[in-house]
Formats: sequence, C-alpha cells, structure tokens
Amino acid sequence: MDLNFTEAEEAFRAEAREWLGAHVPHGLPSGDTREGFARHVEWEKELFEARWSVVSWPEEYGGRGASLWEWLIFEEEYYRAGGPQRVTQNGIFLLAPTIFEFGTDEQKARFLPRMAAAEDLWCQGWSEPDAGSDLAGIKSRAVHDDERGGWVVNGQKTWTTRGAFCNWLFGLFRTDPEAARHRGMTYLMVPLDAEGVTVRGVERLDGDEGFAEVFFDDVFVADDLVLGGVNEGWGVAMATTSSERGLTLRSPGRFCAAADRLVDLWKRRSAQAATGDLAAVGAGDPHLRDAVAQSWMEAEAYRLATLADVTGIVEGRPQGARSSLTKIFWSELDVRLHETALELLGPYAELVDEAPEGVDGGTWMKGYEFSLSGPIYAGTNEIQRNVVAERVLGLPRK
Ligand SMILES: Cc1cc2nc3c(=O)[nH]c(=O)nc-3n(C[C@H](O)[C@H](O)[C@H](O)COP(=O)(O)OP(=O)(O)OC[C@H]3O[C@@H](n4cnc5c(N)ncnc54)[C@H](O)[C@@H]3O)c2cc1C
Repeated sequence: MDLNFTEAEEAFRAEAREWLGAHVPHGLPSGDTREGFARHVEWEKELFEARWSVVSWPEEYGGRGASLWEWLIFEEEYYRAGGPQRVTQNGIFLLAPTIFEFGTDEQKARFLPRMAAAEDLWCQGWSEPDAGSDLAGIKSRAVHDDERGGWVVNGQKTWTTRGAFCNWLFGLFRTDPEAARHRGMTYLMVPLDAEGVTVRGVERLDGDEGFAEVFFDDVFVADDLVLGGVNEGWGVAMATTSSERGLTLRSPGRFCAAADRLVDLWKRRSAQAATGDLAAVGAGDPHLRDAVAQSWMEAEAYRLATLADVTGIVEGRPQGARSSLTKIFWSELDVRLHETALELLGPYAELVDEAPEGVDGGTWMKGYEFSLSGPIYAGTNEIQRNVVAERVLGLPRK
C-alpha cells in the first residue's frame, strides 16, 4: 500500500493551498440566514470564477476534470484554510452525482453549469410531515397531464434545508398510487418560482431560518424535469442518499480541520491553565487531553478509511450500503469532538457571538448544536444501523 500522493497531486495541493490562502473569506454570517446565505453565494461564485467550485467535474460543466484523489486533496485544503460551509452542497454534492448517473445529456447541459456557478440553488425535498425515516411513506403526488406534457404536483415537503433561499427543489413524488410502496414514485426537479409553490421559512432552535416547509398546489412540472424513469424514483433517490451518507457530503477534510482546531484550543487553554488562570482551570485535566487526542485520531481514521474507500471506487467497487457505516462514523465523531471542546471551555462555552470573553467567537457552541443534528439528517443513525446489520453484515431482517 502506498499512502503517498504523486508529484502531480502534490502540485495540485500547492496550487489549491495558495489560492485558498489568498481568497477564503473569514467570519461570514451563518449561511442559514438570509443575509448570510447571500454572502455565501457571493463566495461560491468567486470559487466558480477561479474554477475551484466543482474540481472533480468535467471541464465542460465548470470543473477541472480532477480525480477523486485530487477532490479529496481540495477538500482537505478548503477546510484547512478555514473555508465556510458550502451552501451549494445539496446541488453539487447530492443532485449532481445523481444527474451524472441518471440525467439525459440535455439535463446535464442545462443544470450542471448553472449549479457549479451558484446560479441555481437547490434544496432537497424528501421528508414530509408523515414520512421521514420511512421515506417510502411519502404522499405528495404528481399526476400526468398528457395535453400539457408534464405533471401536476400537490402535497407538502418539510425540513427542507435552506429551502427559503433556493430556487429549485429535487424530490420524490408518488406517481402511481396503486403500485407497491417502493415503486410508483418519480424523481422530479421542481422550479420553486412556479405558480402554486409556497415556501415558508422555519426557524431552528438557534433562531436561524435554516429550514423551510414547501407546499405544492397544482404545480406544473414539465416532462423534461423527470430525473431517471417515471415510477423509478426510488432507485434514483437511493443513488442520491448514497452520496449523502458516503463520500461527497462530509469529506474527511472537514473533520480533520476541526480536530486540528481542537488541538490548538487545547494547547491555548492548557497554556492558560499553567499560568494559574482560573478561566482555563479544567484544561490541564489528563482526561481532557486524552479526549482531544482521541478526536484527532478518529478524524485521521476517517481520512484513512476514506482513502481505502476511494481506492475501491476507482477500482470499480462502489461503497454501496457501506456508506451507512461512513455516515455513522462521521456524525458520531463530530458530536464527541464538539463535546470535548465544550468541556475544555467550561462555562465560557456558553459565551457566543460577540460576548467579550467568548472564545473563538462562540463557534464551538454553534458547531456543537449543529453536530447534534448529524445523527438525524441524511437518514438517522438508527436506520443506518439497520442497513449495516442487514446489508453489510447480512444479518436476518426482523
Ligand atoms: C439538520 C437537518 C437537516 C435536514 N435537511 C433535510 C432536507 O434538506 N430535506 C429533507 O427532505 N429532509 C431533511 N431533514 C429531515 C431528515 O431527513 C429527517 O429528520 C430524518 O429522516 C428522520 O425523520 P423524522 O424526523 O420524521 O423522524 P422519524 O422517522 O419519525 O424518527 C423518529 C425516531 O425514530 C427512529 N426510528 C424510526 N424508524 C425506525 C426503525 N425502523 N428502526 C429504528 N429506529 C427507527 C429514528 O431513528 C428516530 O430516532 C433534515 C433534518 C435535519 C435534522
């Protein structure tokens, strides 16, 4: 096994590091607020202009034709430089791989370049009020209108991340109510400015308008907005969820950078504790030092496991159901890492935003709050454990 990158890959890393070092914006407001989202979109456009927004895509769609290895390197450098969360993530990381796999040439040409350029902003319409884990329980329906050449959509989606700020939604809709639960669904791409769409922003616990409810009232969706076959949406959606749980949504670079920041925080706090500063008094505790080291090792373990996964993909062995293992691992490591940071900070963890004695702008608390949602979104970890039991370990179904 050779864990070294090639000279060309190291040159790619150096180029990315230099550009990101000079351009990454720091201190953007939360991308889950209207103002913050707009600022993030400006940044995404800057990334696109320099052809860093979707490095692994073919050049004709706005990428650099980079390999998966180079994509991983870019991700490491992006988070290492302190790059902000990608508000285009639902498009570039979830829908795009699905369009590459199932889209027609016309759909690729129409959607991918605008997605790469942050001109179209996509949200994900899976969940409904009575269908979360049980995604096959969706009730939103689409009925074909032969005369107009398209579908008439009615129903509701919920928990739609940043839905209030996006202009397109991809999702599953029931198109054959007589078919078995996992059949009879179609994957549609819906313009949110279409007549009959109502998008209502929903505040999260932290006050950010990070979610939306989306209502469809006789919304017309043309035939060329079906992705994959009619009534074959389940299979198409499973490809999207595999990207969400597996390689693309949460690459190791994000967690390695957070683990490095945690080590840095520990160093700063223990240096403070050594001077007898009461504000950092707990930081010298060996139990905390071990927890910091454990988080760093877990992030590194995820990085190495991903290298093995990419080797498999490059050699024609896709992750398949093992992407559920990946999802459980990154989401739980993120919670532990942030819990350790809060312990290091003690009561100071609760000083957020501009509080004068707050540490690192209160970002650890915000990160902790978001980490708690990791075991829920992209399919809850209980469901992922069922998938691992049945489809990776081959245990009998209940
Ligand atoms: C931050 C965040 C962002 C999200 N973004 C989006 C988005 O953009 N688009 C979208 O469509 N949805 C989104 N969601 C919704 C998410 O997909 C759902 O919350 C998730 O699928 C769980 O569904 P639910 O909330 O209805 O919970 P339920 O399905 O009602 O589950 C409740 C509890 O029961 C457990 N449970 C359910 N069934 C089983 C079972 N068979 N075996 C064992 N345990 C079970 C679950 O694990 C969970 O603990 C987001 C959620 C979060 C937290």
